[in-house]
Amino acid sequence: MPDGKPAGVRCVQLDEGNLCRLFGDPRRPAVCARFDYDPELCGTQRDEALRRIEALEVAT
Ligand code: SF4
Repeated sequence: MPDGKPAGVRCVQLDEGNLCRLFGDPRRPAVCARFDYDPELCGTQRDEALRRIEALEVAT
């Protein structure tokens, strides 16, 4: 996404299985490579992670 990915917008690199098409590719953004799973942010399932991330986006 040449102009950056706005908050709340699905990344165009996500495939149908919600996997990153750029994983392992040097074109993958550095910020993505630096992000690691965090149970406090991600919880135990996708819907929980989305709720927590949305709450952070609204709060900041
Ligand atoms: S890891 Fe980065 S590039 Fe890959 S799908 Fe997620 S936001 Fe997009």
